[in-house]
Amino acid sequence: MMSDISKLIEARNRHISKAMSIAHGSPLHIVKGEMQYLYSSDGSKYLDLVNNVSHVGHCNPVVVNAGQRQMAILNTNSRYLFEGLTDYISRLADTLPADLSVGFLLNSGSEANELAIRLARAYTGNHDIAVIEGAYHGHTGMLIELSPYKFRGPGGKGHPEPWVRVLPIPDSYRRAGNDFLLEAEMTFDRGGNVAGVLVETMLSCAGQIPLPTGYLQGLQDMTKRKGGLLIADEVQVGFGRVGTHMWAFEETGVVPDIVVMGKPIGNGHPMAAVFTTAEIASSFRGMEFFSTFGGNPVSCAIGMAVMDVLEEEELLSKALKHGSQFKNGLDELMKTHDIIGDVRGRGLFLGIELVKNRETLDPAIQEASDFVDNMRDLGVLLSTDGPMHNVIKIKPPMVISQQDIDDTLAKIDLSL
Ligand code: PMP
Repeated sequence: MMSDISKLIEARNRHISKAMSIAHGSPLHIVKGEMQYLYSSDGSKYLDLVNNVSHVGHCNPVVVNAGQRQMAILNTNSRYLFEGLTDYISRLADTLPADLSVGFLLNSGSEANELAIRLARAYTGNHDIAVIEGAYHGHTGMLIELSPYKFRGPGGKGHPEPWVRVLPIPDSYRRAGNDFLLEAEMTFDRGGNVAGVLVETMLSCAGQIPLPTGYLQGLQDMTKRKGGLLIADEVQVGFGRVGTHMWAFEETGVVPDIVVMGKPIGNGHPMAAVFTTAEIASSFRGMEFFSTFGGNPVSCAIGMAVMDVLEEEELLSKALKHGSQFKNGLDELMKTHDIIGDVRGRGLFLGIELVKNRETLDPAIQEASDFVDNMRDLGVLLSTDGPMHNVIKIKPPMVISQQDIDDTLAKIDLSL
């Protein structure tokens, strides 16, 4: 008799495109989620260190209850007056600098980035966009063309469209000593005016890289000189993951013109948002904006519950405390494991870069993949990232405990 897993794989292969891959290694059949843990059909328990969507914990009961309650009362669209919508938008706006007072609610990070680019183009009258090498910003037609991770990756064209300017990765480990702002300036100057620069305020797909001091300010100055806006993609790093602030850009003192939110915003419910100034928000000159599901009462209730949990459970300060405990532990492991070339990040957004040689920085690609598989066998879910897939990314639900981190550090030590 075929096992459940074989049946699932067979059905998957029949009905689901090969373009949708499963996490590598032997496939996991996950049947239950509970805060920072996932459970598979064979009863194994896994610590989820990689799902930054389940921000306040898988199936967090406060969020589940809020969604269930609202689903039984009302779910329409945003064309009616409804306190849930205005209260939620105000709550998000209150976390942002005062100028970024107008919000749009959507259903995915891709939709939100699309809208941000449309706004930037409408407002500036310019077309070109700058992005950072290695970035992923979404799966729509325009965003594939704006995501070097995609257009340079398998099946991609291999080169940017003429309207896309790709700035080198400001990677202070691998590319130490480079003048990142000068490089960016040279790329900006290769063409005329731009509608904006779309940038993650800590780089995720490019390899879990914090932006160097002064870099975001420099980018904003450059884009302004070229008539463009600064668009901060906070889809991965927002909602307090960095610990010190709600938004990663806040650490820099820079105020972006547009902020894009996604993933953790609904703790798994499909939601996203774009916030900008009233002036930029009005630049469609009469053309209506409407999203059938964006900002519906159930989404607003869920988003509000996420904000409640973040606040009531003091998850920002926990992210700061647990993040530094994790990072310190990894720094310690670096002393005894030469394969760890670099440990970086802030709060609960960390990266471990594995190298074969600390002088040549030869990437330990196979070792990184084997390490992820091995850690999974030890009950810890991780994955690789970065242009060479040799960076281990760590971005767990914010409810991770001190004990989880101690156990993980011991397992990493053993595994390496
Ligand atoms: N921006 C960033 C930085 C992302 O990581 C992602 C998703 N991985 C997106 C945008 C797109 O979000 P979604 O998958 O919700 O469309």
